[in-house]
Amino acid sequence: MFAEVIVDVLNSETDKVFDYKIPNNLKIEEGTRVLVSFGNRKIEGYVIKIKQNSNVKEEKLKEIICNIDDFVAILPEMLKLKDYMVKRYNLRVADVLRLFIPSEMRSGKVKPIFKTYCKLNKSYNLDEFANSLKKNATKQMSFILFLKENNVADITFLNKEFGSQTVKKFIELGIIKTFKEEIDRRPQIIERNQEKFEHTLEQKRAIENVKLNENNTYLLHGVTGSGKTEVYMTLIEKVLESGKTAIMLVPEISLTPQIMFNFKNRFGENVALLHSGLSAGERYDEWRRLRCGKAKVAVGARSAIFAPLENVGIIIIDEEHDSSYSSESNPRYKTVEVADFRAKYNDCPLLLGSATPSISSYYNTEIGKYTLLELPTRANGKDMPKIQIVDMLSEIRNGNSGIFSNALKDELFRCVEEKKQAMLFLNRRGYTSFMMCRNCGYVAKCTDCDVSLVYHKDEEKLKCHYCGKRFKALTLCPECGSAEIKQGAIGTQRVVSELKEMFPNVKILRMDNDTTKNKNSHQKILEEFSSSHPSILVGTQMIAKGHDFPDVILVGIIDADQSLYQSDYRSPERAFALITQVSGRAGRKDLEGKVILQTYNPKHYVYKFASNYNYKAFYEKEINLRQTTKFPPFTTIVRILISSDKEEIARDTIRSVYNDLADVYNNYKEDFYYFNAMKSPVGKIKNKIRYQILMRFTKSKEDVIMEKIYGVVDKYKCSKTSIFVEIDPQSLS
Ligand code: ADP
Ligand code: ZN
Ligand code: ZN
Repeated sequence: MFAEVIVDVLNSETDKVFDYKIPNNLKIEEGTRVLVSFGNRKIEGYVIKIKQNSNVKEEKLKEIICNIDDFVAILPEMLKLKDYMVKRYNLRVADVLRLFIPSEMRSGKVKPIFKTYCKLNKSYNLDEFANSLKKNATKQMSFILFLKENNVADITFLNKEFGSQTVKKFIELGIIKTFKEEIDRRPQIIERNQEKFEHTLEQKRAIENVKLNENNTYLLHGVTGSGKTEVYMTLIEKVLESGKTAIMLVPEISLTPQIMFNFKNRFGENVALLHSGLSAGERYDEWRRLRCGKAKVAVGARSAIFAPLENVGIIIIDEEHDSSYSSESNPRYKTVEVADFRAKYNDCPLLLGSATPSISSYYNTEIGKYTLLELPTRANGKDMPKIQIVDMLSEIRNGNSGIFSNALKDELFRCVEEKKQAMLFLNRRGYTSFMMCRNCGYVAKCTDCDVSLVYHKDEEKLKCHYCGKRFKALTLCPECGSAEIKQGAIGTQRVVSELKEMFPNVKILRMDNDTTKNKNSHQKILEEFSSSHPSILVGTQMIAKGHDFPDVILVGIIDADQSLYQSDYRSPERAFALITQVSGRAGRKDLEGKVILQTYNPKHYVYKFASNYNYKAFYEKEINLRQTTKFPPFTTIVRILISSDKEEIARDTIRSVYNDLADVYNNYKEDFYYFNAMKSPVGKIKNKIRYQILMRFTKSKEDVIMEKIYGVVDKYKCSKTSIFVEIDPQSLS
């Protein structure tokens, strides 16, 4: 028998399959990881196929050296998924396979750990031995008493309790025997008691409408606090009862502690947690608990979609609109598409949930691709918190040019006086920033694309990320002539220091990339926040989602415009989602909540609809805009990114690719709305020069056009340049 093996080497431009002979003494299956000799090295590889014959001459074939694991690492389903992903995203097989197993498993970095236990030898006559002991042998006596009550114990514990000499003697006498058992390194979860409640009618209806043994995609549109988690957990409960398994995805680690409390309470040991915040050992063990069937529910961020579960009964993607579900570095993939593949393979439902579904997903419910489920009211029966829009331009005109509007200050003082909690939200996304006039609210936009221009400080230029147009950075506002035009972004640190001056005796916490570098730091900050009264939490996107604190009565959105004017056709959608999510943190229990939204453009339609929680009106407005301007979901945006150490090579390659693609463009001219090559907005990263081809074409032609694009791109894959294709990328910088 022969095996087709993919060797696990990084940076090899080709993704070749090599044939190896399977020695008779090895038990090799498709999906087994093996050690093989490659050149004059020994490296790890994956068996992707087993066959009777090989086209390679017998004497040229080497034998597989050995298995790496004592189980099949890659399940048959995942081998099929690999084929799908390689084709759909034009990826290397090795890169895809690497997604399927924890990186710790490769090159044996992490190994299972074992613990030694002692077990009482039942046939030994303990009483007789006890009688033979001297009166002063108290240690041994108490050890005997202990053994009478406990048959098995951890040796470290026994050594500490009764002295290692005693334990050693007992082992020598044959009173106890030692044995080893593998122990799981488990992420630490703080357990909390949860109250029991009756499902609301809306929850009942949503749960009943999900057909469990059929493949359908559902979109659960439920306002914040409507009890979506309860719907997820009930469905998973049913799935487990029928002997199947479940995958539950959440966007960020900061959210998982919360979800984990709930899931732990409900499903106990059945839950395994998969995310990047775990230690290597923990991740490895959690993965193996799933693989061997000890755990049946995988909960985690994006990569948990690759959980090694068989017989999957439901896949749930919470906060489905979140951009973290799209992988933006190699290997690039879209979680929802992978989930769809697995749901189809297992013939089970895929459930997407959100308070603010992505425009594309909601559109899918309109065209009948998804089934819509709705939870229009909060589970506690309370109204959504009131959102007050504050015009920051008029604050300036009235002499307040600080970070906080007077309305926000008043509410903060009230909140502190009542010993309650407040969350202040700031939007900071990377290094990009727009230019805005502080006098009239003018924002620089691209003349062709109607998206905000991005200010690139290094070159003093404003750039459009969709068409590549460049403009001089402004020094005077073209609308009102004011010199108060600048790139406005306030940092969390400044907000915190101003708050500390206002409230010297109040607990003020900060949660952003800087304060959450360490393991468990999210959890610590959140625990501290929730246990202090009064307290104020200042943070970025991280505090927007999922948290459920009963005593938060005030939410302040310091700079709402930051999310509105990102250079992306999805900015309105994202701004709407963010405002809704952040606002949803207020008034979740018995107390009424209030939201203050600060903006320089109070009349913008996003604010109007968001402040009324009118998702449908927002959706209607947005989908019409997309249709008119030919943006997704009506079109597909593709970027081909080429980078190289050498400017010349990058430029030559992009030119050739562009010329080759011109044929495709000409054949499908009516379907193309944009097609151009240019230097990337961020022209250089880590000393690599970056060029790109951008195109936009009719969605319905996606499959045929993508195939042609990949055909061209494959010709240019070589070691000197890297070339990637992205479908509907989240960012074009
Ligand atoms: P969502 O995810 O939709 O924002 P959650 O699932 O976090 O909402 O639920 C919000 C709050 O409502 C939680 O505290 C939850 O325990 C509570 N809850 C959920 N379902 C019910 C119910 N049927 N009755 C009472 N409270 C509920
Ligand atoms: Zn102006
Ligand atoms: Zn443009």
